Amino acid sequence: MASEFRSTLLGDLEVDIELDAPIGSMTYFAIGGRADALVRPRSADALSILLRRCHDDEIPCRIIGKGANLLIDDIGVDGIVIKLDNPCFTQVRFNREGSIDAMHAMAGADLAKTVMETARHGLDGITAMAGIPASIGGAIRMNAGGTYGHISDTLSTVTCLTKVGELVTYKKEELGFTYRSSRIADPLILSATFELQECDPIPLRKTVKEIFAWKKSRQPLADASAGCAFKNPLDKNNTRVSAGKIIDETGIKGLNVGGATVSAQHANFITTNAKATGGDVITLMKQIQQRILEQTGIVLQNEVVIWSRDPEVQR
Ligand SMILES: Cc1cc2nc3c(=O)[nH]c(=O)nc-3n(C[C@H](O)[C@H](O)[C@H](O)COP(=O)(O)OP(=O)(O)OC[C@H]3O[C@@H](n4cnc5c(N)ncnc54)[C@H](O)[C@@H]3O)c2cc1C
Repeated sequence: MASEFRSTLLGDLEVDIELDAPIGSMTYFAIGGRADALVRPRSADALSILLRRCHDDEIPCRIIGKGANLLIDDIGVDGIVIKLDNPCFTQVRFNREGSIDAMHAMAGADLAKTVMETARHGLDGITAMAGIPASIGGAIRMNAGGTYGHISDTLSTVTCLTKVGELVTYKKEELGFTYRSSRIADPLILSATFELQECDPIPLRKTVKEIFAWKKSRQPLADASAGCAFKNPLDKNNTRVSAGKIIDETGIKGLNVGGATVSAQHANFITTNAKATGGDVITLMKQIQQRILEQTGIVLQNEVVIWSRDPEVQR
């Protein structure tokens, strides 16, 4: 299979290929296995053809952003993992459209750098994303956000590539963004436009710093993790309740499996040390879910995305 990637499937495309690629080490957890192939397209055309060929040849195809919400199983993943880090996928442009400042960001652009750039330009709209590690595409896929707002708040349009490599642009209203989710069914987010508001850059930069300080005081940002392990569940009144608070109240902060630990600072963060394996995190997550179910009847759903060759683990 591996040699086929190079010779037939990808041989004539403008892509960089790494076979048996250590994608686990590219995630924020920095653990887990390898992918059959990591492919970095060098043009949008090559990306589109790549998706179509994967579809036609039934080759599994996944997209990795910054790896800040990903856990790779130790047995790795089959097929192709696409990384959009070529400069053609990381550009951010600003345009004035009437009274509104529009930002056009490619999916591979770094969210943290983009937040800083908008603050420097005195443009408000994604300030709430300060301190969230992500690519623009990964943030949209996860509808990332928190106390201060979500990436979808100021989204205007999202351009995707379908499984057969066709470009489609959606208005935000068509995409049904909800907590950590949307109706985006296409495999790949290529770019997005945002509506930003002009404001004084000095207080804006102060707000970015305050949000970052707020996160730092509550979350173990210096440790390896993928942010919140579980989504906040709905209570009887259909209101989201903090998964961290629920886990904390069961008294399992500090619980560990191998090198993976329930963070003492924030119970919904699983942090890992250098000896941790993907299996440690997966087992710890199952133990937390089991304990919470037994003690409260609440079913915690994964927020962390798990990739594995084993469909039972990836479910
Ligand atoms: C220290 C820390 C703090 C965090 N704090 C927060 C927080 O406050 N709020 C929050 O919401 N999250 C938080 N997270 C989680 C993470 O930052 C977000 O989920 C973020 O959106 C992940 O983006 P990414 O580019 O790293 O995506 P990845 O982790 O690489 O991928 C996540 C998912 O998005 C998909 N994806 C990535 N790029 C694309 C694309 N171009 N097209 C289609 N699908 C794509 C992947 O296939 C995967 O399913 C935190 C994580 C860490 C490590």
